[in-house]
Amino acid sequence: MDYKAAFRNAVEQVRAEGRYRVFADLKRHRGDFPLATWTTPEGDERDVVVWCSNDYLGQGQNPVVIEAMHRAIDEAGTGSGGTRNISGTTHYHVELEQELADLHGKEAALLFTSGYVSNEATLATLQKILPGLLVFSDELNHASMIAGIRNGRGAYQVFRHNDLAHLEQLLKAAPADAPKLVAFESVYSMDGDIADLAGTAALAKKYGALTYLDEVHAVGLYGVRGGGVSERDGVADQIDIIEGTLGKAFGVMGGYITGETDLVDAIRSHASGFIFTTSLPPALSAGAVASIRYLKAHNEVRVRHQERAASLKARLTAAGLPVMPSVSHIVPVLVGDPTHCKLVSDMLLSDHGIYVQPINYPTVPRGTERLRFTPTPFHTDAMMDDLTRALERLWAQCNIARLGGQAA
Ligand SMILES: *Cc1c(COP(=O)(O)O)cnc(C)c1O
Repeated sequence: MDYKAAFRNAVEQVRAEGRYRVFADLKRHRGDFPLATWTTPEGDERDVVVWCSNDYLGQGQNPVVIEAMHRAIDEAGTGSGGTRNISGTTHYHVELEQELADLHGKEAALLFTSGYVSNEATLATLQKILPGLLVFSDELNHASMIAGIRNGRGAYQVFRHNDLAHLEQLLKAAPADAPKLVAFESVYSMDGDIADLAGTAALAKKYGALTYLDEVHAVGLYGVRGGGVSERDGVADQIDIIEGTLGKAFGVMGGYITGETDLVDAIRSHASGFIFTTSLPPALSAGAVASIRYLKAHNEVRVRHQERAASLKARLTAAGLPVMPSVSHIVPVLVGDPTHCKLVSDMLLSDHGIYVQPINYPTVPRGTERLRFTPTPFHTDAMMDDLTRALERLWAQCNIARLGGQAA
């Protein structure tokens, strides 16, 4: 076996489709969010504006969060030193889980090392705890949920995205006495649409199904305390398991689930992805506590965030750019071709100091390649005007379709 050739082939395939990924080497400027220094492939340094960070509120640079992390390192050192069961449960972890349970109005919370791990571990473990569990999964669910559902090796069915009629059809056709779980997200981060939480929860209840909600792109961002869309819509108590991340709007790292004590305790006792891995460092836990508390008390940050997103959508739409419909803070702009998408992104970075990553297959379906902008409370009007002008110029240069007409 020519291993080297096999690896090269695997990369070549991706490259031939125009979706070979190159990392942007960035260093953020503390206190100057969303500015960063980009180190070019040639080794030069250039200032850029970051337009695609999931640190949606700039919490990664909030002095309150930074101070909490510094203090935890000074008090307790760096790593946690073990798994949660073997010396890795610190007071910081306990405090963070209490904070998270309170955020979602649940009895208990369980921390994981990332949102990905929390989804994978919880969904796979639920199928083991509940033999015969039938999982109903939205077709656009995140890769980490799909991984968990598959790894659980139980039966699952996929319902059309946000299509409650289809979900009901599947629920109705399933054996009435089988245990069931509906797994879905609130904010779908590539299109920026939001699920009907109340409707889904009501349907699940009608057919005796549990509900599992990924609020990764909503925690910190929606609801008056940042409890997510389930808080905004007043339905957190109708959802059995709310899952989230500490790595996006909270600006740190880690993942979690919240729910009833019995359920959370069962996952804690059975999930490999929880049991057999070193727990989060104390400083990350302390930073997350500070960030969650800050956002619980500062709704004005969320108001400003929504205003910035609306303002960017309005500017791009007025310029005739193909902004995809989004009811959230996500601003996707359709390019529709992987090579163009990467080209526009490269030119934005090299010629305009604007960093936005191209979103290509398999993250989104082929033919819907896009740029995905995530304006934050710290993106100014001037930055938005720069971005709009640059896009207008590139759209003309690259001959990409605009709203209301094909390019020649
Ligand atoms: C990013 C993401 C995750 C994973 O969260 P991490 O904390 O980054 O591992 C899970 N679900 C969705 C929908 C995501 O976009």
